[in-house]
Amino acid sequence: MREKVFIAGHRGMVGSALVRRLAREPVEIVTATREQLDLTDPAQTQKFFAARNITQVYLAAAKVGGIHANNTWPADFILDNLRIQNGVIAGAHAARVQKLLFLGSSCIYPRDAEQPIAEASLLDGHLEVTNEPYAVAKIAGIKLCESVNRQYGTDFRSVMPTNLYGPGDNFDRESSHVLPSLLRKFHEAVQSGSPVVDVWGTGTPRREFMHVDDLADACVHVMAVPKDWFDAVVPPQRSHINVGTGEDISIQGLAQLIADVTGFSGSIRFDDSKPDGTPRKLLDIHLLRSLGWSPHIALPDGIRSTFNWFATTNGAYR
Ligand code: GDP
Repeated sequence: MREKVFIAGHRGMVGSALVRRLAREPVEIVTATREQLDLTDPAQTQKFFAARNITQVYLAAAKVGGIHANNTWPADFILDNLRIQNGVIAGAHAARVQKLLFLGSSCIYPRDAEQPIAEASLLDGHLEVTNEPYAVAKIAGIKLCESVNRQYGTDFRSVMPTNLYGPGDNFDRESSHVLPSLLRKFHEAVQSGSPVVDVWGTGTPRREFMHVDDLADACVHVMAVPKDWFDAVVPPQRSHINVGTGEDISIQGLAQLIADVTGFSGSIRFDDSKPDGTPRKLLDIHLLRSLGWSPHIALPDGIRSTFNWFATTNGAYR
């Protein structure tokens, strides 16, 4: 029987990458627009599942945003995310869906977690305060998946992606993350002939970046790993797997790569009046490798294709 796969959040950067990736599989893809299904309303979600014979779910719907948004609307971040994931996970279970993949975030780990961050660091220390409400919702999602598995024998898995980038990313000046923000800044400097680009902080913090198409490929792979193999790799009572590249780069190195891709030949100025944030954020991806998956898209290639997408669309999505 052909799998009937529901992708919750198919309009976002991650969900749309999942749609592209799953279009290459012999499955039927099911999506619903916000007008057709309000995922923050669990009753609607339950009805939606009851009316379709969905066999697999990718839960990529979430309220997401940068530090500013998280700080401004903390109640929305925790409540909307809890509502969405509770509705989808419970609705899927009630409709007897056996397989579900919940997408979390690396911000679930303690602020001072040892680097590279292993899955076992979860709940081992205090979270970063600025996105704690979002992180707590995501941790609840992982624990809900594990609890449903324990009580009902389902096979609900979770992946925790590192910093993602790619088509459909947020290129907004105020609220974007560093990679799309620098792509925009360098591109605009080239267009306007500006000789200097300002990069926030000292340039020394290190971050890990993964192209969203690699993430989508990893998700499909993790979902397809047979249960006995998954259970042998992922410790008992746990269901979450880190998804990253296993490599990080300094912000200075990233700025140089983006300067090269955009053809910027002026100078890069580091504005150390702006915060550096965490000195380093890198995920341990041993478990993912043990499940037989490795990243394919090298950072310079991923930046180049994302830049081409941005330059042709100006970041406008759909
Ligand atoms: P973080 O990983 O949660 O710290 O999120 P960001 O992607 O916002 O920032 C990563 C690092 O890039 C920080 O050290 C920032 O100071 C630095 N950075 C340099 N230039 C920029 C920029 O234009 N926008 C953002 N968001 N960060 C920048």
